[in-house]
Amino acid sequence: MRIDILTLFPEVFASHLNCSIIKRAQDEGFVQVVITDIREFSTDNYRKVDDKPYGGGPGMVIMPGPVFTCFEHVEKLSPEKPKTILLTPQGSKFNQAKAHELSSEKRLILIAGKYEGFDERIRTGLDAEQISIGDFVLNGGELAAMVIIDATIRLIPGVLGDDDSAKNDSFSDGLLEYPQYTRPEVFRDMKVPDILLSGNHQKIAEWRKQQSLERTKKNRPDLLGEH
Ligand code: SAM
Repeated sequence: MRIDILTLFPEVFASHLNCSIIKRAQDEGFVQVVITDIREFSTDNYRKVDDKPYGGGPGMVIMPGPVFTCFEHVEKLSPEKPKTILLTPQGSKFNQAKAHELSSEKRLILIAGKYEGFDERIRTGLDAEQISIGDFVLNGGELAAMVIIDATIRLIPGVLGDDDSAKNDSFSDGLLEYPQYTRPEVFRDMKVPDILLSGNHQKIAEWRKQQSLERTKKNRPDLLGEH
């Protein structure tokens, strides 16, 4: 998969892209992540990309020119037709099902906003899906882009050493994950449940399913259709 990210703050991405699973996924050729600075496509001597909103109001709005030119440039860098995502708190809410859907795409282009957001013509003129990572407002789309590509990349088959890891994760079967324990068997008087030490795989699977259900009912009844 190729992922292009269009941003005004390319420096934000370096640390996250260069560690752990995301780095390994790139090193092993599962994904290529390319960051492009929208500001490079400003026609202004001062590399200006934003301006005051028509009609008045606070803050600055990202102008359509640099975003469209940047997008058209990046789109041509690879022959695959991309799925384009505009990061905005006004989009539909990102979730694990969407991460699964995106993980089977050959190419993604994510566009991160800043300031007061995008000129409306960016929203209407690009064939992009609008995605939000939650009902809150970030200062910019960079973290939202990272959240989306992090959740998506780990679902590309082969990226996690054991593909079952993702299958057991919370939300994959509509439930939260069961409790996990590792050594030591007893820590500060808190003991690992006996069933996990029993070696009875069927009983362990039943216990985990029950725990998943109880935890989901308690913490996220909405996932079970309860409110
Ligand atoms: N004035 C805009 C509004 O009310 O819709 C918010 C602009 S926000 C300060 C700047 C940028 O951060 C947005 O253009 C978007 O790219 C990104 N952003 C903020 N919150 C986000 C969220 N919940 N999900 C995805 N992107 C978000």
